[in-house]
Amino acid sequence: MERFEFKSETKELLQMMAHSLYSSKDVCLRELISNASDALDRRRFEAVKDPSKLDASETLEIKISADKENRTLVVEDNGDGMTREELISNLGTIAHSGTKAFVENLKKANPNEQSSLIGQFGVGFYSVFILADNVTVETKRVGQDKAYIFKSTGDGSYTIEETEKAGFGTRITMNLRPSDAEDNLEDFTNEWTIKQTVKKYSDFVQYPVMVLCEHKHHREGVEEAEGHDVSTCNDPTHQVTEKKWEQANSMKAIWLKSDKEVTDEEYNDFYKTLTYDYQDPLLRININAEGNMEFKGLVFIPSKAPFDMNYRDTKYGLRLYAQHVLIMDKCQELVPDYLRFLKGVVDSSDLNLNLSREILQKDKMIGRIRKHVVKKILDALENLKTNDPDKYMTFWENYSRVIKEGAASDYDNKDRLLKLMKFISTYTVSEDEKQASDAKDTENGETKKASKSQTTFEEYIARMPEDQKDIYAITGESLEVVRNSPHLEAFLQKGYEVLYLIDPYDEILFANVPEVQGKKIVFIGRGEVELGSEEEKKEQREKLESQKKDYNALMDALKDKLSNEIESVRLSSRLTTSPACLVSQEGDMSPQLQRLISKMGHNNMPQTKRILEINPNHPLLQKLLTKFGANDKDPMIGKYAQLLYGQSLLAEGSPLPDPVEYTKLVTELMVGSL
Ligand code: ADP
Repeated sequence: MERFEFKSETKELLQMMAHSLYSSKDVCLRELISNASDALDRRRFEAVKDPSKLDASETLEIKISADKENRTLVVEDNGDGMTREELISNLGTIAHSGTKAFVENLKKANPNEQSSLIGQFGVGFYSVFILADNVTVETKRVGQDKAYIFKSTGDGSYTIEETEKAGFGTRITMNLRPSDAEDNLEDFTNEWTIKQTVKKYSDFVQYPVMVLCEHKHHREGVEEAEGHDVSTCNDPTHQVTEKKWEQANSMKAIWLKSDKEVTDEEYNDFYKTLTYDYQDPLLRININAEGNMEFKGLVFIPSKAPFDMNYRDTKYGLRLYAQHVLIMDKCQELVPDYLRFLKGVVDSSDLNLNLSREILQKDKMIGRIRKHVVKKILDALENLKTNDPDKYMTFWENYSRVIKEGAASDYDNKDRLLKLMKFISTYTVSEDEKQASDAKDTENGETKKASKSQTTFEEYIARMPEDQKDIYAITGESLEVVRNSPHLEAFLQKGYEVLYLIDPYDEILFANVPEVQGKKIVFIGRGEVELGSEEEKKEQREKLESQKKDYNALMDALKDKLSNEIESVRLSSRLTTSPACLVSQEGDMSPQLQRLISKMGHNNMPQTKRILEINPNHPLLQKLLTKFGANDKDPMIGKYAQLLYGQSLLAEGSPLPDPVEYTKLVTELMVGSL
């Protein structure tokens, strides 16, 4: 017998299991059945290549039995089994690289989420310690002579030694803890509890799950006196107890049925067994492809974006079946990267059982299935957007980033994805405010929370006045910041709608997608702005030209005082009520995006300087010009330059480089004017 130590992270996990973090402790059984089913899949799969590995007379199945007196629960399969080395690497260590992250997530999650996390991360086997004090695993690898027994009490070490075992596969015996109704720990030696649990979690498992059940019946052949009623007979000597295997799961492949035969509840239950999510899905998409590619698909969108959706090494994809046999649990080739949140099943009778990972990538059929899945998902989302806008908003709140990612990466579907997008804008905000104030009038002064409605590009374009050529957008950290931005002034005055792009990803998206429906996306915080008809533009240009003559010397002086901070100074045609603002040069990243990228660890980004635009019609600038005219060496000019720069930063929600210095200047100015 050899003794081994668990790794420290495994020990930590085992501790958590034993202290029963989970509100639903029955997941343990689900995990063991799922492992057994995988093992059966593997054996069946191996037998496709080498028929000697599975005798025709042997039925692949999972057996569960309990012993009330000894408080043991046994889960047994005739799957592929494990060698000694496989026992060590599979059960002795947690193979999953994300375990640390998992343990962290688990500590933070609420009880409901915890039981959903356990499945997503596959702590699988270790969940035995939710129910048991100690466990033995007897296993014999298919095609091998030797069998091994693994024993652990879950405290930190385990032992392995050789043993005798009839038949291939794995038998797991758990010594159960006392049941405890208060602690939500049901008695798993109770056959009814076992059967219910199998039904709940493992009904669709593709192998029979047999549970050993007791049957009491009246002994046959007992002398039956006249008037002896078998159904009411209580004579213990007439009773016999027999044990029989009963199949506890229905094995029905729900995706093969037409959706009329299945209730929503059954679909939702299936979704939950598949994903371990505890909430119903947001949307279900039944796919039934016929013709040159035959397959059935049952795809779900979770109502909450999976928490690990944006982790780099999260495995995603749909479950792939060929001729109803499971080929792969998470087949990434079936969905593009940006649809990684989809859960579900694809089953095709046109696919070969011998499909390997390498072949998958090149397989034409898989490519076609994927294309069709994408089409169906986009159809369903368009439908949802039109027919159930509220539900669509839930979708959008959860998945907007991946859809944006898709528009930037999936060229074929770019236009369809753009149509799915929604943004807050100057229009939607003012509509919301109108509604909120109407509601206030009617509901005796009580304010309803303003709903945040959003606009599509189509709706935006339909509202564009005739003289507006481009789609205008402003980027910023939050709605509060952008909606007060001085950059908006001229656009609002003209009645042009401006999209508020407050997700830094928007900028990345529109760097890849510069036009929507033939209209350029113009960032109003960048480059020069000219609005209105040709005539108005000409008029504006002439006015600015003449003002430039007056302001040239002052602008040079401001540029001189702020040479470290800004690129240049120019007169603004985008400001009406603010004295100044900062604008990026055409093609530059916005300060928000620069901050995001440096937060992500890229600190050596070149710092681009921006242009200070001043408003020649603002009294502040006009007075400054007079002061400058009287004495161009006035020390106040430098201080005002700093103040103007600071104000422009504050107005767009950027931090001040030196708040202390700024406050000093403001105080000095206040003292001077009092
Ligand atoms: P996961 O199933 O997520 O990989 P587990 O801890 O549940 O994690 O199992 C670890 C590994 O142990 C499995 O991947 C499998 O290789 C092996 N294993 C577990 N149960 C069985 C079983 N009943 N038969 C054969 N191998 C098994």
